[in-house]
Amino acid sequence: MKILMVSSEAVPFAKTGGLADMVSALSISLAKLGHEVKIVIPRYYSIGRDALKLIPGAMGTPMGGGIEEWSAVFTADMPGTGKKNPVKVYFIDHEIFFGRDGIYGSPIETDFMDNPRRFSFFCRAVFQLCRKLNWYPDVLHAHDWPAAIAPVYLKFAERAAERAKDSDGDFKKTVSVLTIHNLGYQGIYHKDNFDYLGLGWDVFYNSGFEDWGMMNMLKAGLYSADKLNTVSPHYAEETKIQVHGFRLDGVLRYRSADYTGILNGIDSGLWNPAVDTYIPQTYTAKDLSGKAIAKQALQKEFGLPQDATVPVIGMVTRLTDQKGVGEMFGPTYGSAWSICRDMNLQLILLGSGEHWCEHEIGSLASRLSNFKAKIGYNENISHLIEAGSDFFLMPSRYEPCGLNQMYSLVYGTLPIVRRTGGLVDTVENYNEATGSGTGFMFDELDPSSIYNTVGWAVWAWYNRRDHIEAMRLRGMTHDFSWEKSAKKYVDLYDEALNRK
Ligand code: ADP
Repeated sequence: MKILMVSSEAVPFAKTGGLADMVSALSISLAKLGHEVKIVIPRYYSIGRDALKLIPGAMGTPMGGGIEEWSAVFTADMPGTGKKNPVKVYFIDHEIFFGRDGIYGSPIETDFMDNPRRFSFFCRAVFQLCRKLNWYPDVLHAHDWPAAIAPVYLKFAERAAERAKDSDGDFKKTVSVLTIHNLGYQGIYHKDNFDYLGLGWDVFYNSGFEDWGMMNMLKAGLYSADKLNTVSPHYAEETKIQVHGFRLDGVLRYRSADYTGILNGIDSGLWNPAVDTYIPQTYTAKDLSGKAIAKQALQKEFGLPQDATVPVIGMVTRLTDQKGVGEMFGPTYGSAWSICRDMNLQLILLGSGEHWCEHEIGSLASRLSNFKAKIGYNENISHLIEAGSDFFLMPSRYEPCGLNQMYSLVYGTLPIVRRTGGLVDTVENYNEATGSGTGFMFDELDPSSIYNTVGWAVWAWYNRRDHIEAMRLRGMTHDFSWEKSAKKYVDLYDEALNRK
């Protein structure tokens, strides 16, 4: 299959979150399965031109205001994909739209005012790129709102031109798939931007753009793509109900015959205790001595007593509302204070995000001897926390997939999670009577549920150690490899191509 990934991010070139990891990891796995995969992203300022190859010739892109002349295309091979079937990455260069610091915004302008133009231009340029390369994909796979207009252009510009026998391309057989990584971000802008897209206003009103008088880019994509999916089966179900649907639950119910969930994989070359270079000693389920050493190192790193008998609860998280930080660290009502006050445990956190929360965490850590935190982003320490902790806490409000609970499971660290999204697909709740399960789950997101469930885990630590040790080993047998998930994407592409 010829597959074109359309995304605003892809590691190692541009990353603000998990989307970047997923696009590259999935592409590499699809290439390993023998498919021809190309990725297209914008060339942001942060991606130096020197390491890229220019594809000669300017590229005009028809937009509402006329032809955008000033764009060019650069290319590079995805690192680590080998010579035989490399994943090719293409960078759309446009000085006015992408010649600035920041991907979606800057510290001063958190969401660039011209983002609807920047990303609709990018989506339209994708088709010009195919023309330039004389390469037409079987599957156009778009990710999240910045790429969501690509399936719209396929449907309303390219297919319409094919039908009218007025196309200088060859998109007759191309189908589209749109993946939702986080429904909380939709690309909603003033409808004055719509003229620039160069699509008729009938498309605005009849094909999903219109959203209470505004223009919603993700919603338009959800109407237009041939197949839709999100990054876990449970999140796919949840998003069809109002409480998790971010006002798009109706659209997703309407498209439910074409909407599925496919669990993300994890990078098992990087997140694997048997090969992890960030931890003091590697380990496997057969010999957990490296895990005990990691616990000591973690306690030392955070300035806690090096005591193997006390359970360590780790957290690595963005400090935002999505992650339940209000219920955990909210002043006066958050559960962190009472958890640390009442229970014989050590709580460790690595994270950054909202200022109030960073401040509150600092204040708590200064008053509690068994709570230590580091504010910031640190890959090294995040590995040490996964390896050295006994439990990993994720009280998420919603979680499209979640990676940390998967890392925890394969590192023999028991997740304590809210029963939501991808956490439901990956963690099995502990059963005291039988000892079965791989973690501890709760339903309501409130401080007392977090308190009680952490309490339950700590109780099991002190009173059911045989269960805890068996759960660890059970978790470590999980296969969250990308190979498995990539095959499911191939099935989805086949369905879109009507081969299934
Ligand atoms: P989300 O993408 O919603 O933040 P995920 O669990 O899917 O949540 O993925 C988060 C990823 O970012 C994980 O790999 C996690 O370890 C990493 N991460 C988050 N915050 C930090 C931090 N402060 N330092 C290091 N890694 C972090």
